[in-house]
Amino acid sequence: FIIPDFIQFTEQIHDIYEICKNDRRGKPADYIPQLARANPDNWGVALCTVDGQRYSAGDTTIPFCIQSCSKPLNYALALTDMGAEKVHSYVGQEPSGRSFNEICLDSSNKPHNPMINAGAIITSSLLKPTLRIADRFDYVHSQYKRIAGGEFVGFSNATYLSEKETADRNFSLAYYMRENKCFPENADLVKTLEFYFQLCSVEITAETGAVIAATLANGGICPTTGEKVLTGDAVRNTLSLMYSCGMYDYSGQFAFKCGLPAKSGVAGAILIVVPNVMGVCTWAPSLDELGNSCRGITFCKELVNKFSFHNYDDL
Ligand code: GLN
Repeated sequence: FIIPDFIQFTEQIHDIYEICKNDRRGKPADYIPQLARANPDNWGVALCTVDGQRYSAGDTTIPFCIQSCSKPLNYALALTDMGAEKVHSYVGQEPSGRSFNEICLDSSNKPHNPMINAGAIITSSLLKPTLRIADRFDYVHSQYKRIAGGEFVGFSNATYLSEKETADRNFSLAYYMRENKCFPENADLVKTLEFYFQLCSVEITAETGAVIAATLANGGICPTTGEKVLTGDAVRNTLSLMYSCGMYDYSGQFAFKCGLPAKSGVAGAILIVVPNVMGVCTWAPSLDELGNSCRGITFCKELVNKFSFHNYDDL
């Protein structure tokens, strides 16, 4: 086993879970009612090792919206489908140094990276572009499900409708990108945006997220099914950009302090990858001023403190 004394390990994880439970800072996102209504008491931590050992504490079977945690998955799927060269002819690899929904492009007029909205909208346009939109959604849904080893992957239509109704910023971004010729030929702006909102509105649980993160930790082979779902190159590139760009405007500090590839979403989830060891998903709806889950960040700091999982520990 990758973690020999798993029982003792999970007792320590449970201790960290309890410590974080006392963290009552922050508040849930409130730009749409479906997120504003979230219960700030919800707190779940689930993990899955690369050899398939599982542990869950708290609210790990309640569905929540994946939101920005969909970005690394869509990027990994696009890479697996069409290769890095093609994908990166449309989107860069540089932290933007700006907020996730800022209307800005890099010096060659491409989105800075696939982990911010601009890059994620373009990445969405690259997913099975020749299929009809319903089949594109089915395709991505079924790929998420494979990456998650068959765990729950749902959809919140109410969230999708709200996202679409309050999307002025994302529409502005898309028009700005169309003006700058960022989209692939034949991409339909409105359909692409709706597709992007739908992918943000996919529902998962913390247990789903743990297996997803574990597949990334395991080079693209889902540890619970043994199925190869993403190429090794796709996972390498995805983890690189999660490491540098995954945590909004806290990404540099998170890389410094925790040294792990991770991606957070506005519903309060964080996908955390400990390469070659395990995937973790934390979920707590209350966010800090940068948009990251307060309890999730506390969890990551405690985790790295206790187990030396930082990329540059133990050199
Ligand atoms: N769905 C929202 C948007 O695209 C927020 C995504 C996120 O988790 N930051 O603006």
